[in-house]
Amino acid sequence: MMRHAFIPAFAVVDDCLCVGGVALPRLATRVGATPFYAYDRALIRTRIASLREVLGPRVHLHYAVKANPMPALVDFIAPQVDGLDVASGGELKLALDAGMAPERISFAGPGKSEREIAQAIAAGIVLNLESETQAERAAAIGQRLGLHAMVALRINPDFELKSSGMKMGGGPKQFGIDAERVPALLRRLEPMGLDFRGFHIFSGSQNLRAEAIVEAQHKSIALACRLSADAPSPVRILNIGGGFGIPYFPGEEPLALERVGAGLAQALPQVAAALPEAAVVIELGRYIVGEAGIYVCRVLERKLSRDQVFLITDGGLHHHLSASGNFGQVIRKNYPVAVGNKMRGATRESATVVGPLCTPLDLLADRMELARAEPGDLIVVFQSGAYGLSASPTAFLSHPPPLEVLV
Ligand SMILES: *Cc1c(COP(=O)(O)O)cnc(C)c1O
Repeated sequence: MMRHAFIPAFAVVDDCLCVGGVALPRLATRVGATPFYAYDRALIRTRIASLREVLGPRVHLHYAVKANPMPALVDFIAPQVDGLDVASGGELKLALDAGMAPERISFAGPGKSEREIAQAIAAGIVLNLESETQAERAAAIGQRLGLHAMVALRINPDFELKSSGMKMGGGPKQFGIDAERVPALLRRLEPMGLDFRGFHIFSGSQNLRAEAIVEAQHKSIALACRLSADAPSPVRILNIGGGFGIPYFPGEEPLALERVGAGLAQALPQVAAALPEAAVVIELGRYIVGEAGIYVCRVLERKLSRDQVFLITDGGLHHHLSASGNFGQVIRKNYPVAVGNKMRGATRESATVVGPLCTPLDLLADRMELARAEPGDLIVVFQSGAYGLSASPTAFLSHPPPLEVLV
């Protein structure tokens, strides 16, 4: 099978990668230091526009803050989406600071502290309850505060999302309430004083197969329609998850977004008929920001060890754990990497890109074909806008953390 060459979404001018129209060496000077993450506003705006076009006006689009919580980025995205999904008290603060209307913020997570539940109720956001215990705590805290908690039930469905990079539903899971237990809890919500808003069904992440996503969406909708029979009030929010993936590795094809849109459109009349007050919500993190971000580090040293070229850089796994292959990957594969100031280069060679850490895990590219690089050149890791900095162990080996810029 033909291996697909990675084509970055960023422009290349005079053999230099450009972010937001700024050539990389100039951007590095503007930032003031390497390593750094750079996120391109125009690419994010374009991505959201294509999602809007394909999903249509009836589907609400939420951003999952977990994918990239940089405050300026959340502020930039907030006005372009219909809601923000958070998974901690810290992310809740970011979402509120970004000016998102509280009723458009939802809070998921299998372990919510009493303090986080109180914060959520005081803010007037929607708590996605993941257990009977969370429901009881929300009820007790709401009573103490004299406020009705707005709640949705996160359901652990009775199916799995096929071909998903990370399964988060089906079988025994720490996430959500097992579907078969939901009717009993629905009947308790009103006596508990909880204000029922709807359902949240998130079955997995990083999926590149449109058919598998559509199948999960249809099953989620059918499940919600079935469970609504026991709901104390109309379903207003039907969050059917997301899981849209982006290609990282050779041979991976981008998600056929139009097929997802067409498949979802087929199920919308069923929602309109069975749950007329429900807004269908798709929540996406990686798909909105992942391809719009790069990680940039500088070559400190070029080293030859037994005929293998090593480019030793000032960046590594402490800043970008997922590119090193240590964040959920089973078999390590190279993220797309290039020399950002020599995209094509005069000569090319096989090189291994490593960081400064004293561990063989600190690997950014293993024997990849790259332009011949020298000390001072800039190494770029693509597909780094999601699960980059905030998913990395920055304290490991006590180097300074990287900067972040939105361009
Ligand atoms: C992590 C997560 C997301 C975002 O997943 P992506 O793969 O980044 O789109 C959305 N919803 C929930 C509940 C999550 O836990």
